[in-house]
Amino acid sequence: MSAEAYRWRCSCCGEEQIGLPMAMGFEGPRPWEYFDDAKQAESFLNSDFCKIVRLNGEIERYVLGMLILPVPEIDAEFQFAVWVSVSERSWDIYSAGYGAGEYKAKGCFGFLANAIPGYGESSGLHADVWFQPDGLRPLIALHDGDHPLISAQKDGVDLAQVEQWAAGIHRNASG
Ligand SMILES: [Zn+2]
Repeated sequence: MSAEAYRWRCSCCGEEQIGLPMAMGFEGPRPWEYFDDAKQAESFLNSDFCKIVRLNGEIERYVLGMLILPVPEIDAEFQFAVWVSVSERSWDIYSAGYGAGEYKAKGCFGFLANAIPGYGESSGLHADVWFQPDGLRPLIALHDGDHPLISAQKDGVDLAQVEQWAAGIHRNASG
Protein backbone atom coordinates (compact mmCIF):
# COMPACT_ATOMS: atom_id res chain seq x y z
CA MET A 1 0.00 0.00 0.00
CA SER A 2 1.25 3.46 -0.84
CA ALA A 3 0.26 6.91 0.38
CA GLU A 4 -1.11 7.70 -3.11
CA ALA A 5 -3.45 4.70 -3.17
CA TYR A 6 -4.49 4.85 0.47
CA ARG A 7 -8.26 5.24 0.96
CA TRP A 8 -9.56 6.99 4.04
CA ARG A 9 -12.64 8.82 5.27
CA CYS A 10 -11.99 12.47 6.09
CA SER A 11 -13.08 13.41 9.62
CA CYS A 12 -13.79 17.03 8.59
CA CYS A 13 -16.30 16.33 5.79
CA GLY A 14 -17.00 12.59 6.00
CA GLU A 15 -16.03 12.09 2.37
CA GLU A 16 -13.92 9.21 1.18
CA GLN A 17 -10.53 10.38 -0.05
CA ILE A 18 -7.91 8.59 -2.11
CA GLY A 19 -4.32 9.40 -1.31
CA LEU A 20 -2.81 10.82 1.85
CA PRO A 21 -0.89 14.10 1.76
CA MET A 22 2.52 13.37 3.28
CA ALA A 23 3.70 16.90 4.00
CA MET A 24 2.53 20.00 5.76
CA GLY A 25 4.11 23.04 7.29
CA PHE A 26 3.78 26.16 9.36
CA GLU A 27 3.64 29.68 7.95
CA GLY A 28 5.75 31.04 10.79
CA PRO A 29 7.16 30.16 14.19
CA ARG A 30 4.68 29.99 17.04
CA PRO A 31 5.27 33.53 18.40
CA TRP A 32 4.57 34.95 14.94
CA GLU A 33 0.96 33.72 15.12
CA TYR A 34 0.28 35.95 18.12
CA PHE A 35 1.76 39.07 16.59
CA ASP A 36 -0.43 41.93 15.49
CA ASP A 37 0.30 43.71 12.21
CA ALA A 38 2.15 46.59 13.87
CA LYS A 39 4.60 44.31 15.61
CA GLN A 40 4.99 42.17 12.49
CA ALA A 41 5.91 45.26 10.50
CA GLU A 42 9.16 45.60 12.47
CA SER A 43 9.84 41.90 12.10
CA PHE A 44 10.49 39.77 9.08
CA LEU A 45 9.21 36.49 7.61
CA ASN A 46 9.88 34.78 4.30
CA SER A 47 9.87 31.14 3.19
CA ASP A 48 13.05 30.22 5.10
CA PHE A 49 13.91 32.94 7.60
CA CYS A 50 12.06 34.76 10.35
CA LYS A 51 13.26 37.52 12.62
CA ILE A 52 11.08 38.80 15.42
CA VAL A 53 11.85 42.11 17.09
CA ARG A 54 10.40 42.26 20.60
CA LEU A 55 9.15 45.51 22.12
CA ASN A 56 12.20 45.57 24.41
CA GLY A 57 14.41 45.40 21.33
CA GLU A 58 15.34 41.76 21.83
CA ILE A 59 15.68 39.91 18.53
CA GLU A 60 14.64 36.28 17.99
CA ARG A 61 15.88 34.42 14.92
CA TYR A 62 14.25 31.40 13.30
CA VAL A 63 14.92 29.22 10.27
CA LEU A 64 12.64 26.72 8.53
CA GLY A 65 13.72 23.08 8.55
CA MET A 66 12.26 19.66 7.81
CA LEU A 67 11.14 17.31 10.54
CA ILE A 68 10.86 13.84 9.00
CA LEU A 69 8.54 11.39 10.73
CA PRO A 70 8.44 7.78 9.52
CA VAL A 71 5.06 6.15 8.84
CA PRO A 72 5.93 2.45 9.10
CA GLU A 73 2.47 1.11 8.09
CA ILE A 74 2.91 2.41 4.54
CA ASP A 75 6.72 2.46 4.54
CA ALA A 76 6.74 6.22 3.91
CA GLU A 77 7.79 9.45 5.56
CA PHE A 78 5.71 12.43 6.60
CA GLN A 79 7.53 15.73 6.16
CA PHE A 80 6.77 18.60 8.48
CA ALA A 81 8.21 22.00 7.60
CA VAL A 82 8.89 23.44 11.05
CA TRP A 83 10.57 26.55 12.43
CA VAL A 84 13.46 26.37 14.85
CA SER A 85 14.85 29.17 16.98
CA VAL A 86 18.60 29.59 16.45
CA SER A 87 21.37 31.81 17.80
CA GLU A 88 22.60 34.90 15.98
CA ARG A 89 25.82 33.06 15.12
CA SER A 90 23.94 30.08 13.66
CA TRP A 91 21.62 32.42 11.74
CA ASP A 92 24.67 34.15 10.25
CA ILE A 93 26.25 30.85 9.17
CA TYR A 94 23.00 29.62 7.60
CA SER A 95 22.22 32.88 5.81
CA ALA A 96 25.79 33.27 4.55
CA GLY A 97 25.74 29.80 2.98
CA TYR A 98 22.08 29.81 1.91
CA GLY A 99 22.64 31.00 -1.68
CA ALA A 100 25.48 28.62 -2.53
CA GLY A 101 24.27 25.74 -0.33
CA GLU A 102 27.70 25.55 1.30
CA TYR A 103 28.01 26.23 4.98
CA LYS A 104 30.89 26.95 7.35
CA ALA A 105 29.42 24.40 9.77
CA LYS A 106 27.59 21.08 9.35
CA GLY A 107 24.71 22.34 11.40
CA CYS A 108 23.69 24.08 14.57
CA PHE A 109 21.54 23.80 17.66
CA GLY A 110 17.93 24.93 17.64
CA PHE A 111 14.73 24.97 19.70
CA LEU A 112 11.63 23.69 17.92
CA ALA A 113 9.27 26.65 17.56
CA ASN A 114 5.98 25.04 16.48
CA ALA A 115 3.41 22.84 18.18
CA ILE A 116 2.81 19.74 16.05
CA PRO A 117 -0.95 18.92 16.12
CA GLY A 118 -1.63 15.80 18.16
CA TYR A 119 1.59 16.06 20.14
CA GLY A 120 0.76 18.65 22.77
CA GLU A 121 3.21 21.46 23.33
CA SER A 122 6.32 20.66 21.32
CA SER A 123 7.73 24.20 21.15
CA GLY A 124 11.05 24.39 22.95
CA LEU A 125 12.21 20.83 22.25
CA HIS A 126 15.95 20.72 21.63
CA ALA A 127 17.16 19.74 18.17
CA ASP A 128 20.14 19.44 15.88
CA VAL A 129 19.68 21.41 12.68
CA TRP A 130 21.71 19.81 9.87
CA PHE A 131 22.37 22.06 6.89
CA GLN A 132 21.79 20.42 3.48
CA PRO A 133 23.26 21.02 0.03
CA ASP A 134 21.41 21.89 -3.18
CA GLY A 135 18.88 24.31 -1.73
CA LEU A 136 17.31 21.66 0.49
CA ARG A 137 16.02 22.78 3.85
CA PRO A 138 17.96 21.76 6.96
CA LEU A 139 16.98 18.46 8.56
CA ILE A 140 15.74 18.64 12.13
CA ALA A 141 16.82 15.86 14.51
CA LEU A 142 15.19 16.10 17.92
CA HIS A 143 17.42 15.38 20.89
CA ASP A 144 16.61 12.32 22.93
CA GLY A 145 14.17 12.91 25.75
CA ASP A 146 10.76 12.20 27.17
CA HIS A 147 8.23 13.67 24.74
CA PRO A 148 5.77 11.91 22.39
CA LEU A 149 7.12 13.82 19.37
CA ILE A 150 10.64 12.54 20.10
CA SER A 151 9.26 8.97 20.15
CA ALA A 152 7.39 9.72 16.91
CA GLN A 153 10.59 10.75 15.14
CA LYS A 154 12.28 7.54 16.33
CA ASP A 155 9.49 4.98 16.06
CA GLY A 156 7.10 6.60 13.61
CA VAL A 157 3.50 7.80 13.57
CA ASP A 158 0.47 5.66 12.83
CA LEU A 159 -1.91 6.17 9.92
CA ALA A 160 -4.71 7.40 12.20
CA GLN A 161 -2.51 10.39 13.10
CA VAL A 162 -1.64 11.08 9.47
CA GLU A 163 -5.36 10.96 8.64
CA GLN A 164 -5.97 13.63 11.29
CA TRP A 165 -3.29 15.87 9.81
CA ALA A 166 -4.75 15.26 6.35
CA ALA A 167 -8.24 16.20 7.59
CA GLY A 168 -6.75 19.42 8.98
CA ILE A 169 -5.19 20.24 5.61
CA HIS A 170 -8.51 19.46 3.88
CA ARG A 171 -10.42 21.67 6.32
CA ASN A 172 -8.03 24.58 5.72
CA ALA A 173 -8.12 24.11 1.94
CA SER A 174 -11.91 24.04 1.76
CA GLY A 175 -12.55 26.57 4.50
ZN1 LIG B 1 -12.58 16.74 4.52
